[in-house]
Amino acid sequence: MSSFSQPGIVYLVGAGPGDPGLITLRGAECLRRAEVVLFDSLANPQILEHAPPSAELLCVGKHGRTRIWSQDEINARMVEEARRGKTVVRLKGGDAAVFARIAEETGALLAAGVPFEIIPGITAALAAGAYAGIPITHRDFASAAALVTGQENPEKEGATLDWEALAQFPGTLVFYMGVTTARQWSEALIRHGKPPQTPAAIVRRCSLPDQFTIRCTLAEVAERMESHEGQRLRPPAIVIIGEVASLSPALAWFEQRPLFGKTILVTRPRGQAIDLQRRLGELGAEVLLQPAIEISDPPDWTPVDDAIERLSEFDWLTFSSANGVRFLLDRLVSVGRDTRALGSVRLAAIGPGTSQALAEYRLRVDLQPQRFDAEGLAEALCPDAAGKRFLLARASRGRDALPRLLSGAGGIVEQIVVYSSTDATQPDEEIAEKLADGRIDWITVTSSAIARSLAKLFGEQLHKARIASISPITTQTLRDLGYEPAAEASHYTMDGVVEAILAGNGVSGRGPGRIDRRR
Ligand code: SAH
Repeated sequence: MSSFSQPGIVYLVGAGPGDPGLITLRGAECLRRAEVVLFDSLANPQILEHAPPSAELLCVGKHGRTRIWSQDEINARMVEEARRGKTVVRLKGGDAAVFARIAEETGALLAAGVPFEIIPGITAALAAGAYAGIPITHRDFASAAALVTGQENPEKEGATLDWEALAQFPGTLVFYMGVTTARQWSEALIRHGKPPQTPAAIVRRCSLPDQFTIRCTLAEVAERMESHEGQRLRPPAIVIIGEVASLSPALAWFEQRPLFGKTILVTRPRGQAIDLQRRLGELGAEVLLQPAIEISDPPDWTPVDDAIERLSEFDWLTFSSANGVRFLLDRLVSVGRDTRALGSVRLAAIGPGTSQALAEYRLRVDLQPQRFDAEGLAEALCPDAAGKRFLLARASRGRDALPRLLSGAGGIVEQIVVYSSTDATQPDEEIAEKLADGRIDWITVTSSAIARSLAKLFGEQLHKARIASISPITTQTLRDLGYEPAAEASHYTMDGVVEAILAGNGVSGRGPGRIDRRR
């Protein structure tokens, strides 16, 4: 903090329609500097991860248990924080200025002499166009588009919307906030001459994993909203009215992705799940995270530190996981050494994820087996093991196949525990509830330790979802625990798990992009 009194500033930022990737670079940059964030209920809370942990996060719209702030309260708080010198982000759903009462907010800031900046966002109409595959100004059908509020009662005296003009409007109409009032505004349009057969598309929760689109006619909009799957459709939804809404649903790429509509539970440790989460998310799945195990420092560093001093005495250093690589090499640095301590020791990695972790430390592996498990690694090392010294960097628990096989082949084996792996003790309540209700389609099980922990966390409920296992060994553990996986990876990697799920869903072939392989 500087010693002179620095004036605060308010950034009015558009958060985009829902997908956290749809905020602008500038918006994310403002969030990274924020000391106070006032956010709407329509702004995806995941976006708040851009804000520093020290930032004060205030939800001003309804989000679970919170109450809704009045506009005056929001204005007053922004002014107050900025006057105290704070950097304030006012995060608003969609665009910061489209049906967003921005004039009230900037008015209060101007009156108080507080500087501000407005950072636009992707407004729901444009997002719906992109994510439902409806180009709202397709040149053959519409040369204009109007953004319309559904909140103006057409029956009311002195209404500012000219319904006759809207009914004649030569282009696409996009209605915001029109769910509860659908009957009024759709009937008003028809009454003023808009053909009832005009194509319409209702897009709910656009850009989110549970987005859905209803295609109908203008005359049907109200009825479709009032009885969607037996109940009234809940906001937020946007309605596109015009010829463009009749364009081929083949453009609706978002809802056609292979895992769209599926909910998948990822169970890797926190901090190591992101690649798998991203890959499944890009294939359309809603991805939930329930870490089944937690990774932390080993109970005792002494044996590790001791081995670090003697690294050059070994012929081979083997790693059975990316975690092992990170914990050992980070330790090396924190005890004041660097990778030269490795000397001429040769490096073996169990699989591609582990090799990749070494590559992140600018280290090339000397050996990675064809088969990515302990037996595969042993098979590759054993022929030349006799009399060689092996240092095995391992977890606090795990299988003993590698040391056993190497010793059996005449190797001199020393093991060091470089990280602890412990079971999660408490399942996330919401996730447990979803699983019990059958609302989770797949659970990824990417190690035997995860399988055992999940069995303890969820018990019988695990039968309610399909299990995707990473390898035959994990499958065997699952079977011993009484669970039969619905799919097993043929490559024992995260990509392999994704492929197994795709195949298990009756989808062949791969989507675009790929993830880092980690294990
Ligand atoms: N500033 C926002 C609009 C706020 S008004 C924007 O620019 O998008 C709230 C209305 O926006 C909702 O009633 C709904 O009509 C629309 N909306 C916001 N997010 C939406 C989403 N993800 N999917 C569909 N409609 C959405």
